[in-house]
Amino acid sequence: MTELPYSHEAPVSQTLFDRAAAVTPGGVNSPVRAFRAVGGTPRFMVSGDGPYLTDADGREYVDLVCSWGPMILGHSHPEVIAAVQAAVARGTSFGTPGEGEVQLAEEIVARVAPVEQVRLVSSGTEATMSAIRLARGFTGRSKVIKFAGCYHGHVDALLAAAGSGVATFGLPDTPGVTGAQAGETVVLPYNDLEAVRAAFAAHPGEIACVITEASPGNMGVVPPLPGFNAGLKQLCADHGALYISDEVMTGFRVSRAGWFGLDGVEPDLMTFGKVMGGGFPAAAFGGRADVMERLAPAGPVYQAGTLSGNPIATAAGVAQLRLLDDAAYGQVDAASERLRSMVTEALSKAGVAHRVQVAGNMFSVFFTDDEVTDYEQAKAQESFRFTAFFHSMLSQGVYLPPSAFESWFVSTAHDERALERVAVALPGAARAAAEATE
Ligand code: PLP
Repeated sequence: MTELPYSHEAPVSQTLFDRAAAVTPGGVNSPVRAFRAVGGTPRFMVSGDGPYLTDADGREYVDLVCSWGPMILGHSHPEVIAAVQAAVARGTSFGTPGEGEVQLAEEIVARVAPVEQVRLVSSGTEATMSAIRLARGFTGRSKVIKFAGCYHGHVDALLAAAGSGVATFGLPDTPGVTGAQAGETVVLPYNDLEAVRAAFAAHPGEIACVITEASPGNMGVVPPLPGFNAGLKQLCADHGALYISDEVMTGFRVSRAGWFGLDGVEPDLMTFGKVMGGGFPAAAFGGRADVMERLAPAGPVYQAGTLSGNPIATAAGVAQLRLLDDAAYGQVDAASERLRSMVTEALSKAGVAHRVQVAGNMFSVFFTDDEVTDYEQAKAQESFRFTAFFHSMLSQGVYLPPSAFESWFVSTAHDERALERVAVALPGAARAAAEATE
């Protein structure tokens, strides 16, 4: 194993990145992985074990990304690996119904009370896209309200930028999304119920659904203010629209029943991904039976997938969920709390303005003194300090999300040894953040 601190050069990763760039746009299959927000060479990982990742240069890192959430039991958990190996030995895909998908659906329905029926898909994007189609099919309406800074995957209609003011129609955020697709999306400031009320008033009988992250983690962690989710639910009920809670990130992570388990607000539809797939491509959407029954083949709203309910993915998901009991969530919560206090202590000692924002066991660090309640405030932080902080941590063997606008994730495997390693790295990273200039 290479000695700490690691060089900022990562020759084997760099060679792989160069090869990747020749055959893949930007050298990656998902943009944030390219390190563009922080600069430098993205680390190509070759293996994971508990709280650690090892890269192609033979360096070991404490992983505080956990594959962007899914690896809540740490990497290569023996029981999940055993379930996967047993499933693989039986075959990899049948294109028929199988018991694994029934088990996974039963597990989800048993944990999350508002989910009476659930449909399995392969990514969070598919889940939110399908939930919105279903909401439109169910209500016969076309418009969707979403919030600036909430990410629901790369669904055309949901890649609309925030406009300022109330009931602003979204502009396409990316070439390839047409004005017509974005024009059905009303983008509003997060945590602003008045804006939602005004949008319903401005578009009577036109709004099919409000979709929101149950507790946003994609602009950094910005939890809903007290009463916000309940207010959304009420406004939707008053106006005949569906309330869709996107729990792709929070689902089965922040509690047995995800964010719903913490705030108890009952959505009409919910979306899931990440943790429920145990590291494999499995996601889902579900909710009220009378709405879900509108889906094909029970109803007329079409939705399908060649690999939906794949036997390997469902075996991994079932194994992971069954291990996630109250004790496991207690462990993740405790590791998260410990880490948060270490980060706060190091940054305070170095005199760096910061704010650690928390949603259950998810958290992120904003480089600002002020509470962040929406996307505009999130963007106002001194993110150049994060870049210095990130690279210092990386060179000391701690892998953080390569962006100031992402949640940090921990697992049951983040034990004393792993946390101690982070503790040792933090003072230097905090100093680097303090000394950083724009
Ligand atoms: N919804 C939320 C809240 C997410 O965080 C994500 C991904 O990060 C998605 C949807 C999209 O999921 P996927 O990347 O599996 O398509």
